[in-house]
Amino acid sequence: MRGRWIPGIVHAFKRTFDAMTDATYPHLLAPLDLGFCTLPNRVLMGSMHTGLEDHARDFPKLAAYFAERARGGVGLMVTGGFSPNIAGWLKPFASRLSMPWHVAPHRQVTRAVHAEGGRLCLQILHAGRYAYQPLSVAPSKIKSPITPFTPRALSSAGVERTIRDFVRCAQLAQEAGYDGVEIMGSEGYLINEFLAERTNQRHDAWGGSVENRQRFPVEIVRRTREAVGRDFIIIYRLSMLDLVDNAQRWDEIVTLAKAVEAAGATLINTGIGWHEARVPTIVTSVPRAAFTWVTRKMKQHVRIPLITTNRINLPDVAESVLARGDADMVSMARPLLADPHWVNKARSGHAALIDPCIACNQACLDHVFENKRASCLMNPRACFETELVDAPLTQKKRFAVVGAGPAGLACATTLAQRCHAVTLFEQAHEIGGQFNLAKRIPGKEEFAESIRYWRNMLAETGVDVRLNTRADIAALQAGGFDAVIIATGVTPRALNIPGHDHPKVLGYREVIAGDKPVGARVAIIGAGGIGFDAAEYLSQRVPSPTTDIARWSHEWGVDQTYANAGGLAEPAPEPSEREIWLLQRTPGKPGKRLNKTTGWVHRAALKMKGVKMLGGVIYERIDDAGLHVSVDGTPQIFNVDNVVVCAGQQPLRDLYESMQSVGIPVHVIGGADVAAELDAKRAIAQGMRLGAAL
Ligand code: NAP
Ligand code: SF4
Repeated sequence: MRGRWIPGIVHAFKRTFDAMTDATYPHLLAPLDLGFCTLPNRVLMGSMHTGLEDHARDFPKLAAYFAERARGGVGLMVTGGFSPNIAGWLKPFASRLSMPWHVAPHRQVTRAVHAEGGRLCLQILHAGRYAYQPLSVAPSKIKSPITPFTPRALSSAGVERTIRDFVRCAQLAQEAGYDGVEIMGSEGYLINEFLAERTNQRHDAWGGSVENRQRFPVEIVRRTREAVGRDFIIIYRLSMLDLVDNAQRWDEIVTLAKAVEAAGATLINTGIGWHEARVPTIVTSVPRAAFTWVTRKMKQHVRIPLITTNRINLPDVAESVLARGDADMVSMARPLLADPHWVNKARSGHAALIDPCIACNQACLDHVFENKRASCLMNPRACFETELVDAPLTQKKRFAVVGAGPAGLACATTLAQRCHAVTLFEQAHEIGGQFNLAKRIPGKEEFAESIRYWRNMLAETGVDVRLNTRADIAALQAGGFDAVIIATGVTPRALNIPGHDHPKVLGYREVIAGDKPVGARVAIIGAGGIGFDAAEYLSQRVPSPTTDIARWSHEWGVDQTYANAGGLAEPAPEPSEREIWLLQRTPGKPGKRLNKTTGWVHRAALKMKGVKMLGGVIYERIDDAGLHVSVDGTPQIFNVDNVVVCAGQQPLRDLYESMQSVGIPVHVIGGADVAAELDAKRAIAQGMRLGAAL
């Protein structure tokens, strides 16, 4: 349905809406003339590896994925990275475009995109020393801190061969029907490694002086342009801010941008931060548009259009970035996973219905790092366009959904989009469930956007929402529903030690909701996702620096004056509001089980605040003196004002159990189904899958 109603609206009201919203987003929706072709708007869907690139058998799915986004109106798209040779593989047998027989499967993708009126570039990515495989190469034999393999240093002949491989890859991309290529020169991959002394300690024509270090990318662009002719897009992804030590200076980066322009690039895209950088660059706690200042700094030095990036997720943000002249285009990858129709919705006056990327990384980047297919927490159909499809509608039915947390909301809106009649019962005064807590955590403000989205979708799809209403069996029987979906969520697990009911003890819900005052010294029991959230909430001043770019940059040590190579300054964290201990029973460092691409940021943020984290703790009792524990057999007392319990959850499924005997089909989803490791990704996917199937 989602795919059906948007084009319908667009066709019916196109002219009116275009006039209205071109006025709302005049910069974002303005065409961009590249000389030999004109892009319809300023939105680039940036490169994002999905896992579908790695096997030709998955290319029909990749074609559907890009075709859906082309239909959604995006100006230009870039594929995930394809290596130009085997040494450049990200991992063994990963995506590669280097042989004539690799071309044919790509044509399915380019044809599908062109059939929808879209444009697609192929990203050429040589992993260099970030390759997770033993054949890796680099300018010098220097291992990266984030991979186990030491690369072989390329010989001079090897450098020449690699350049030829880049050029060959671009030619094959052209043969496959792509509209252009993006040459990946940032994020610490091979090209970036040639540019920085940190990783380039060569003494031949490819190392030493700035000119020598820059020769590799400049030759790649120059020879690629010669090979592909004039009317083929070449995007060069330029690392404008390395965010590591012993990296490029600003004047070097300007020189490179000019050289790349002269060598024949059509567009320059912005790259921010090497993967080994200690500064977070894309997670949700990074302020929106936190790095567009660096693209603006470059604007005066080149004439070709510049693309800016990182943490731009909604049309208002993108419009203001472009309006103040930071760049000529904005790149968004994850927001287009979350909502393939992002551009059409902005154009048609439906920006409030954009399914937002909340920058959680949970279903996209975390999946890629776990060797799983990427998708999106907010939009489980992403990369599953041919699989997570709505069942044919044979009969309009009446459904009751009980619980307006993420699972219930996903299910209710999916059912209603398919034209079923849906009544949504929620005992609280607002929708959103646990997301109402998450949005209060400093750095997780984006969760409010998902609630905004669902609220608008409920209204748009005509769901009958009953707030402040506790659904019981009688009401569900009286409603004449064809089926009932129980999404009643979870209840916090209570402590089972003496003193669990002491006045010092608080539950995480009342703490994060701000319902109870919390003292200056706090012990947090349980160091899962919510324990970390509680620690961040209790340690930060309000309002959080995550909505203030200058303050956030200061905290993490990002230097907008660019006094040092790499753009780094000393981090200057603001002191914690409280003295906090974050505890767990499991031996070892807390936070190990947090998500792959975001856990390190949570750990680093709390460390900067001086939060003390301790594993292997046995809880004994709580009394007026505080929390009594033993660690390695040694008794210890935490003399704290409060103990905050974040000890996980249990399912709330009483209603589900009692509905079994009523004779109405009943389904259970989300935390009410399985509370262990409850997470929104599973809850939303389960809700949407059920909504699509019923
Ligand atoms: P969790 O990740 O399962 O962590 C529960 C913690 O409680 C663990 O550290 C566990 O560690 C401890 N624990 C378990 N039983 C205990 C007991 N009987 N007594 C004392 N400690 C006990 O659960 P969570 O932190 O509640 O997070 C739930 C899920 O929600 C996670 O998947 C998380 O990613 C997600 N999440 C949700 C939100 C939100 O909705 N606001 C926020 C962040 C994360 P030990 O057994 O080692 O003590
Ligand atoms: Fe954005 Fe999270 Fe979806 Fe990734 S999983 S696209 S970060 S909302």
